[in-house]
Amino acid sequence: MLVAHKIALDPTNTQRSYFARGCGAARFAYNWALAEWQRQYQAGEKPSEVSLRRQLNALKREQYPWMFDVTKCAVQEAIIDLGGAFRSFFEKRGKYPRFKKKGVYDSFCAANETGTLRTNGKRIKLPVIGWVRMREVVRFEGVLKRGTIGREADRWFVSLTIEAPEVAVPLPLQEVVGVDLGVNTLATPSRGEVVTGPKAHTALLKRLRPTSRRLSNKQRGSNNRAKAKNRLARLHGRIVNIRKDATHKATTKLAKTFRRIGIEDLNVRGMVRNRRLARSILDGGFFEFRRQLQYKAKRSGAVIVVADRWFASSKRCSCCGSVEAELDLSQRRFRCSACGFEADRDWNAAKNLENLAASSAVSACGEERAGAVRKSRVKRASKKQEPNSKDELCVA
Ligand SMILES: [Zn+2]
Repeated sequence: MLVAHKIALDPTNTQRSYFARGCGAARFAYNWALAEWQRQYQAGEKPSEVSLRRQLNALKREQYPWMFDVTKCAVQEAIIDLGGAFRSFFEKRGKYPRFKKKGVYDSFCAANETGTLRTNGKRIKLPVIGWVRMREVVRFEGVLKRGTIGREADRWFVSLTIEAPEVAVPLPLQEVVGVDLGVNTLATPSRGEVVTGPKAHTALLKRLRPTSRRLSNKQRGSNNRAKAKNRLARLHGRIVNIRKDATHKATTKLAKTFRRIGIEDLNVRGMVRNRRLARSILDGGFFEFRRQLQYKAKRSGAVIVVADRWFASSKRCSCCGSVEAELDLSQRRFRCSACGFEADRDWNAAKNLENLAASSAVSACGEERAGAVRKSRVKRASKKQEPNSKDELCVA
């Protein structure tokens, strides 16, 4: 099993400048290969990633001797990446590759062979530059296959690919849960505790707007603008990291506890809920939640059931199934006009997702879309207009 592990680095100034040169070399190689690819294509030749690598190797001693200052992987893997970008373009999975700009997703491959990377506690040994301090130890047992160095704001990270042995995970014990994702609270499960968002996070969100306004007031191309830009990027990074950490804890717990997990289609959700600057981050947070839940569910054997975008999880009564015509965003309690059921708004939504997950057809593994089951849900629910043995549920 291949696992990815990203660790913050604590480099010296020499190491920082090496990293910057590595990114530069990778970017140069990528852009060189892209230009050459376009030229060859127009000349009626058949460019390929392999031939371009050979070509650059042949002329780099003459024309680009500075490339020898950094690991050869940086140049090699950049051109391999370009090949991958063209492949996904030809297979209609991606856009036509574009030239890379300095400062946008700066990264380079520092090692791509087994045995070239070594760690010792909180240190990692990279080719050319040697030992670099890490902020934490590698958390997975296994062989280090590959290391990529990247920059986020002004911090450096190493992303490791590790060949880890398969471990048998016991199947989750509890049957089914629904999870409502929100802005006020990070996640509300239908069973168990509400996951409130991290405190630090709300305070930082408030700083987002003034910081970005300060950036827009600075003159283009000025040093002050560059500084303000960096400050905003760091703030963004911190918010994302804090939320990510909280999300990791919540998703791990869910995937380990429940066999079936109902969540809503997050595409729409992020768009309706919040119109402010913080939105982009929250949207990202929803996707991140789902991404983590998905790969963790795969590991623990849980099934994720995604409600389709027309499934009214908030407006539906989780007790009798009737759908309210209107539900104001400010309304924190849900009240059913058909059966009188009352509950916390988010919990009611979560319960609906749980019901959906419980009633949808079982698939072997992974994600499943609960669109087709919607009809049967409505039908079955309408029979339950009269309150019956579900009373104890209604009181909750
Ligand atoms: Zn009701």
